[in-house]
Formats: sequence, structure tokens, C-alpha cells
Amino acid sequence: MNSNKKNWNEATRLVHEGSLRSQFFETSEALFLTSGYVYPSPEDAEEAFKGNRLRYVYSRYSNPTVTMFENRLAKLEGANWCVATASGMAACFSILASQLVSGDRLVASKALFGSCLFIITELLPRYGIQTTLVDGKELNEWKNALKTKTKCVFVETPSNPTLDIIDLSALSQLTHKAGACLIVDNAFASPLLQKPLDLGADIVMYSATKHIDGQGRTLGGAILSNNESLLTNNILPWMRHTGPALSPFNAWVLLKGLETLNLRVSKATENATKLATLLSNHPKISKLLYPGHPTHPQHDLATEQMKKGGTIVTFEVRGGKKSAFDFIRNLDIIKISNNLGDSKSLITHPTTTTHQRLSQKERKSLGITNGMLRLSVGLEDIEDLELDIKTGLDCLSL
Ligand SMILES: *Cc1c(COP(=O)(O)O)cnc(C)c1O
Repeated sequence: MNSNKKNWNEATRLVHEGSLRSQFFETSEALFLTSGYVYPSPEDAEEAFKGNRLRYVYSRYSNPTVTMFENRLAKLEGANWCVATASGMAACFSILASQLVSGDRLVASKALFGSCLFIITELLPRYGIQTTLVDGKELNEWKNALKTKTKCVFVETPSNPTLDIIDLSALSQLTHKAGACLIVDNAFASPLLQKPLDLGADIVMYSATKHIDGQGRTLGGAILSNNESLLTNNILPWMRHTGPALSPFNAWVLLKGLETLNLRVSKATENATKLATLLSNHPKISKLLYPGHPTHPQHDLATEQMKKGGTIVTFEVRGGKKSAFDFIRNLDIIKISNNLGDSKSLITHPTTTTHQRLSQKERKSLGITNGMLRLSVGLEDIEDLELDIKTGLDCLSL
């Protein structure tokens, strides 16, 4: 083996890490579309089932294409292990349900992706798990909440859609002092812009559907950690016996996604930074929320814990829902869609889509207003994007 391997930088790892080349010496990773595996002898099968021989036995447990994706992402994250899942929500539910039992308590930030919020506030309590929500920005709220015995802490930063930043270093200290486990949903930042494990998190999860595929093709998810006992005692048995495994075909798509991840995230972030500047100076925009822009209330913290401001820009147009609708109706390149992290620029009106289920009061407490729009910036030419936004805003009679 080449002894320089451990010194590879991120861009190199994204292209080469984890490749398991078969006897045919293919360039691109092979797609092992197989559910099962054969044994040369009954003794071999017996040994495999005793767990004495590391080999593939069934694709609900593991599959070579899925392994390649897991190993590549683990190395990128700086994690000892990665378990791929069929979607981001399969990752979220597997992490929580494999650890928490009746009588346990979970504390989470209230600004969460809708389905994560559903699991935490609706599903877990059905199984006797107590859940408490706090304002993730306020360390005092965490301190108070963690005075009561807690098993897990779950957060998303930057949050959806207001892009609040949670201080992960400070929160991991509070969490560990309370003897709990810190879980971070890192989908918005992507593994390139924020490394929660380095900031003290115990588990990181992804919706790989977002930046990792980033081309609107497939669902996927991942769970990453350095905690071996969590893998052996909780995550692996859960995955093997309940079946949220990632399909080999989707793993192959995601492997290809990783190869261009740094190019896509860098370009989209560059575009987002320019659009944030345009929006911050526009008279028809009443508020801009972009972690990479100096006007963001937590810009300093964002600069400390993220490499860049990310690919999502949230802003508020003057004139409420009507203006917001008229604006997005008049966009040409930027498409109306609730997905994000895509090569195509996508925009959504959270009040009537992703956060529609919440009451007006709940939305208000999260800072979500009727004129608010969440823009996921893509890879288009920046001049075209700027013109699209200017034209859309020109159509508003304010
Ligand atoms: C999309 C998303 C999820 C859910 O992932 P799926 O792949 O859609 O299941 C969870 N958390 C965040 C922050 C997301 O953006």
C-alpha cells in the first residue's frame, strides 16, 4: 500500500476513498445489485452465521457498494464508522429508536426539519419517551432542560428555514456534563462546511438526498460516529433486523455524488454569498438570514464553527404572503420546490409548505413569517441567477 494514503486531502478522498476494486479492475465503483451471497460449503455458511468470518451474508445487513459509500463518507467526516440508510428520516429514526427506551428523556432544539419534529413530538412519546423542546440558540434554556436526567440531545444547525446557529462546542460540553449523547443533523451544512464530531458531537446524521446526491436523483441517509459500543449494541442490530438499509443502486448514485461534492458545495456557496449580498441591499427585502453575511445575528459563531455560510439563503420580502407568492411565480430559472442542496436553484415558501402543519403561534416562535422564502442556491451562472431574482422583485408593486 502507498504510505502517503493517510495524508490524502478531502478532495482526493472524495474521489478515491473506500473503493473496493473487483477482479475486473474497473475504474468506476462496481454496482453489486445482489440481495444475497453464496457459500462455497455448508461449513462456510455455518462460520458466517456464527459471526466468525467477516463476509457478506445478506444485503439487509451489508452490501459491497453500500460499504464503499459508507467508508468514503466516514473518512470525509473523520468518523470511525458510518452506517448508510434508505433516507435521512431512516437515519434519524434509527438513531433515536435504537437508543431510547420507555422512561428515557430527549431534549431537542425546536427549529427542526418537519419529519424529525414529528418523530420527536408525536412518535417517541407513544413509546413512553419524554421529549422537551428548547430554543437552540439559548444556552440557558439548554442548561435548565439538562438539569433533569436526559439520555439524548438532538439538534439541527443551521436550522430550517431560519438558519439559526447552535453553538456545538458549548452544547456538547453541557450535554456530556449531563451524561447525555449529542446527535447533530448536519444536512444543511454538508460534511464539507461543518464537522460536528470535531466540535464534540457523539453522532452525526445526514439526509444524503440533499447535498451528497445533490442532483435530485435519489433518497439516502447516513449515521456516523466514533462510539463503537453504540454501533455494536444499538445501531447494527437495529439496522439488521428492522430493514432501513440503503439500496446498492442508491449507494452507487451517492458514491458518484461524493466525487463532485466539494465542487458543487463550493460553487453553490459562492453563488449563495453573492445572492445574499444582492438581497441585503434590495429595498423590497425586509430581512436577510444568511450565516455567511455580517448581518446574520450569529455571524461570528457561524464563522467559528462553519467553513463557509452554506448553500441556503433565507429572506423576507415586504408585503407578506401575496408578495412572496408573486415573487416566486415570476421566477424563471429558480424553481418552486421544497427540496434543497440541489444543482438546480430551488425556492420554497415555508409558511404554506414545509411548516404548514405548525400553528401560526408556533411559526411565530420560530421566526417564520408570511413573507419568508427559503432559497437553496444551485450551480447556475451567477449573472443569470441575479437577473432572475431582480426580475422577480421588479414584478412586485410595493
Ligand atoms: C431532508 C432532511 C431530512 C430528511 O431526509 P430525507 O432524506 O428526506 O428522509 C432530515 N433533516 C434535514 C435537515 C433535512 O433537510
